[in-house]
Amino acid sequence: MDLRERWLEDELEKLRQQHLYREARAWPETGGRVRVDGRALLNFSSNDYLDLAHHPTVLAAAEHALRAGGAGATASRLVVGTLPLHEELEARLARLKGCPAALVFGSGYLANAGTVPALAGRGDTIFADRLAHASLVDAVLLSRAELLRFRHNDVGHLDELLSKCTGGGRKLVVTESVFSMDGDLAPLPELAAVAGRHGALLLVDEAHATGVFGPGGGGVIRELGLESAVNVSMGTLSKALGGYGGFVAVSARLREWLINRARAFIFSTALPPAMLGAALGALDVLEQQPGAGAELLRRAAAFRQKLQAAGLDTMASASQIIPILVGDNARALALAARLRAQGLLVVAIRPPTVPAGSARLRLSVTLAHTTAELDRAAELIVAAAREEALPNK
Ligand SMILES: *Cc1c(COP(=O)(O)O)cnc(C)c1O
Repeated sequence: MDLRERWLEDELEKLRQQHLYREARAWPETGGRVRVDGRALLNFSSNDYLDLAHHPTVLAAAEHALRAGGAGATASRLVVGTLPLHEELEARLARLKGCPAALVFGSGYLANAGTVPALAGRGDTIFADRLAHASLVDAVLLSRAELLRFRHNDVGHLDELLSKCTGGGRKLVVTESVFSMDGDLAPLPELAAVAGRHGALLLVDEAHATGVFGPGGGGVIRELGLESAVNVSMGTLSKALGGYGGFVAVSARLREWLINRARAFIFSTALPPAMLGAALGALDVLEQQPGAGAELLRRAAAFRQKLQAAGLDTMASASQIIPILVGDNARALALAARLRAQGLLVVAIRPPTVPAGSARLRLSVTLAHTTAELDRAAELIVAAAREEALPNK
């Protein structure tokens, strides 16, 4: 062993002992069902909410773009990497979000990493929901602005922090519309009002809302008519849209600023043709089936209702993301293993992804699940939770 790397072994052993060790294991296939060791598992861990990753329209559009445009964009956007497909996709995303403009990034992570530091820097203050996604937290660290965290979805606390902030710098509030690990919704109208009152910019991450909530999958901001109250409506192409890439929907002037200042946009190779094609194909499907998100939310609500009726703690879930609170790390792993043995692929989510003591199973309902499968899965989960003696809510 290279002596310089010896500390890694100690650190990894610590993780194992705390049941926090993680592995990136390969799954031989993806989709609503996965076959593992010859057994079919129903996949409750995918973010492919509308089952578009394998949709023929999406695949055909990706393939066409790949053949026509090549494997890569060959350069960053400001050099020669911007293709007509980027412009087409940005126009379509702006329309979907009801915003004047949009800008595509290499991923959702990069969209946040590029946008936040372009809006706030040294001497400025960023107010983030305590449960804001790691990509937003990393973006704040990159920005060098001061970070103040407000209690989850607590508008009063945000108001208080903003009131105390009397320095001259810019203020930026960042949150998610649908929280990735809790599946609950932010009180956006109230947040927007408070941010507006204090002259603070507002960025809302719609990674899990895009394609699912709002008219035609336009997101929660659109559903609530808050387009003009939110400065940055961030989304990803990698979840409900089934592909890869990220974007922000913004004003034309803000887009211009990001092109000039967002380092994650400027210093990274442009999103490749196949992914642009896939996203355009997914938007075609959304236009042909504008009710897909609403149907998903109906199925998820019925499923959640069954878990709740059996006394399971689904926290404040109000979306296709349904946590089952366990608490203890080892117990969450044991419950996940038990469900795996019964044909359900559910991943235990542990710290640091969620706060210590709140380990949970995170289930995502997708359109790949039939209602009969969901009914059966709910029964299996309730039975497994009893056997694992999960606390009742
Ligand atoms: C997944 C996710 C991201 C990052 O998006 P990618 O396209 O996967 O990089 C950002 N924010 C939230 C809330 C997410 O869940």
